Parts: sequence; C-alpha cells; structure tokens
Amino acid sequence: MKAALLLLAAGEGERFGGQLPKPLVPVDGIPMLRRSLAPFLEVKAIGEIVVAAPPRFLREVQTLLEDVAAVRVVAGGATRQQSAQHALGALTADVDIIVVHDAARPLVSRNVIDTVIAAAETHGAAVPAVPVADTVKRVREGFVEATLRREVLRAVQTPQAFRFHIYKQAHERATAQGLVATDDAALVEYFELSQVAVVDGSPRNIKITRPHDLALAEFYLRHPQV
Ligand code: C5P
Repeated sequence: MKAALLLLAAGEGERFGGQLPKPLVPVDGIPMLRRSLAPFLEVKAIGEIVVAAPPRFLREVQTLLEDVAAVRVVAGGATRQQSAQHALGALTADVDIIVVHDAARPLVSRNVIDTVIAAAETHGAAVPAVPVADTVKRVREGFVEATLRREVLRAVQTPQAFRFHIYKQAHERATAQGLVATDDAALVEYFELSQVAVVDGSPRNIKITRPHDLALAEFYLRHPQV
C-alpha cells in the first residue's frame, strides 16, 4: 500500500496572534510544523509529503524542511479546503491512500496515524475522534434551539485518511458545487462517497488555535504519562 501525506500549514493563525507564522512557532523548543511532521516520517507506506504553507512564508517553511527529502512545499489557499487541493495537485506519484493532517496538531501519535490509515484501507475513509466533555447545544440568535445527545457526539481530529479516488472525487465535486467544509471527511459524507469509520483519537492530540493551547501542548510534552 502506498500513501501520501498532505500537511496543512497555510492558516493565517489569526486567533493565535504573534509575530512568527504559526507553523514556525516553537513548541517546547521545536517548530510546530516539524513536530507535526515527525511521526509521519516513520511511516513506511508514506512515500510523498506535500506541505501547504502560507504564501507569504513559503521560503521560511522551505528552509525549515529542506533536510527532509520526501517533502515538497506548496503555497496554500484562502481556505483549508483550498490548501488541501493545492497539496493534492502537487502529488507526483500514484497512491492508494491520502492522509491529511493539520500542522496545528503537533502532538499527533504514531498509534493514531497507524490506526486511521488501517481503517481507511478497510472502509474507504476514517477519522480519529474523542468523546465530548461539554454538553453541546444548537443556538440560534441567542436562544437554545436544541440540546444534542452527548453520548452520540464526538470531537473529530486529524489525521484523516481516505482511499485516493474517494478523496479526489470529494474535492472535485465540492469545487464544482461550491461546497466548503471544515474537514475533509465532511465532503465524503455529503456526497456519500464512502462510510467514514471513526477510530479512537487522543485527548493529547489538541489543535493549537489560541496561545493557551500552546501552554497545554508544552505541558503534555513534559508529562508523557498524562
Ligand atoms: O482554520 P483551522 O483551525 O481549521 O485550521 C486547521 C489547519 O488547516 C491548520 O493546520 C491550518 O494551518 C490549515 N489551514 C490551511 N490553509 C488555510 C486555513 C487553514 O492550510 N487557508
């Protein structure tokens, strides 16, 4: 089985703030992007990696990753979905499985990666998820419309994995119909291209969005047993 990784790092990081582009921000001394890439380099099936970088910082990201032979860096787009499409378009080899990961999740574990790839091989598409701790309500104009049953809710993470043709078709159709989603699996669900298997994610696999998320990531790194 041959796989490729699309590593999405082209967000503006507006909620994060700061001077440095988010992928270059050190997480316990190592740039976030290098941390989110590292465990994928150990996966034998992944032969090609495309990183979508902020167009303004293309050169900096290229320099950061210049020692990693399997990596190509491309300019991302205005949305996460466009960045994924730019990265997909830059692949050179035929692959069976596409793995997509947010560079903003630098604590991703090898175990989650392997599990999600194996589930995508079997089922066509797979996402890692964790139970939701809060009670989630649907709200409209300041008032509660509905309370969702927490037992059936999951918070979905990356990496997500897909059979190549499912992934490609999902993005092609989304572009044709102007559909924009916040993760890749949503497109597969919408067009009913495959069932999406849900595997165990990790509570440590947080997305670094705001400055306090960085503090939490560094806490996790210093406390491997938590
Ligand atoms: O915006 P969001 O939190 O969903 O971003 C998730 C991931 O998608 C981040 O790693 C971010 O860098 C990436 N992204 C991107 N291109 C965009 C927006 C987000 O690659 N235009």
